[in-house]
Amino acid sequence: MSQLIEGRLIAEKVYAELRGEIAELKKRGRTPGLAVVLVGDNPASRAYVRAKDKMCRDLGLHSVKLELPAETTQAELLARVEELNRDAAIHGILVQSPPPKHIDEAAIVRALDPAKDVDGFHPMNVAKLALGDESGFVPCTPLGCQRLLVESGIEISGAHVVVLGRSMIVGKPLALLLMRKGRGSDATVTVVHSRSQRLADITRSADILIAAIGQPQFVRAEHVRDGAVVIDVGINRVDDATTERGYRLVGDVAFDEVSEKVSAITPVPGGVGPMTIAMLMSNTVKACRQR
Ligand code: NDP
Repeated sequence: MSQLIEGRLIAEKVYAELRGEIAELKKRGRTPGLAVVLVGDNPASRAYVRAKDKMCRDLGLHSVKLELPAETTQAELLARVEELNRDAAIHGILVQSPPPKHIDEAAIVRALDPAKDVDGFHPMNVAKLALGDESGFVPCTPLGCQRLLVESGIEISGAHVVVLGRSMIVGKPLALLLMRKGRGSDATVTVVHSRSQRLADITRSADILIAAIGQPQFVRAEHVRDGAVVIDVGINRVDDATTERGYRLVGDVAFDEVSEKVSAITPVPGGVGPMTIAMLMSNTVKACRQR
């Protein structure tokens, strides 16, 4: 039976540490502040924003939730970002993705003060990650994956990590993070994507396989070697008439068959998901500390 890497429990440990740090900052008269901007009324985005706001409040952070109508223009959104850049009570700013189609998301990200870009998507923070400059912000999901491995006592240094997926949100920053020099890194990293040949041969050579492709239950037993560690980033809705909502969430990994073969694996939900929000809180506290 494989070890279940429980993101919820590890996230609780992160929150316990953060509470201590936040108390220290407050003693010095500083309260970390996070602003989350939501444009439009995408229900999934609304739920994410609510969860982030709630977590900020639980931790005693200053939380600003800015809900703007779907017809907000690029210029209006840029003006709100500029205001938040200037607001001394705000240390982290996040514009919830995806914005409505008429918004140029990349331009919005470039308008953020890099020192407040707690999502880690600004070109300055991408460059800092590539350079190994620890003052930058690393995107929350990759950071959460790394933390899950470290907290579970899984050796990353020298391991062959195969990352499935090369998005700017997960795959690419994760590869950069794990190949960096230092604690929790020093891996030999291979990235595979939709154009990769002999994909299963490559994934089978992984000591640690991290799946982030958005394809429900794509990774099967034949993709993993005995005893490997599997981190499943995927969150996919599949129809399920037996549930009240008519769907259920599954990862990019066929959990039942893969968990039989590997030494450790994350569940979906309850694996990477809770870590993403924990790392957002952690980045916000870091932004306040560094200010
Ligand atoms: P993207 O769609 O942006 O990227 C998917 C990547 O997977 C691309 O690089 C794509 O290759 C690759 N890919 C797609 N299909 C295949 C295939 N059949 N074989 C090999 N590679 C493939 O997705 P994201 O990175 O944003 O998200 C990935 C998953 O992670 C999703 O399920 C998403 O919901 C989830 N997610 C979960 C988070 C969490 O907090 N747990 C946070 C963020 C995402 P190519 O580049 O060639 O097109």
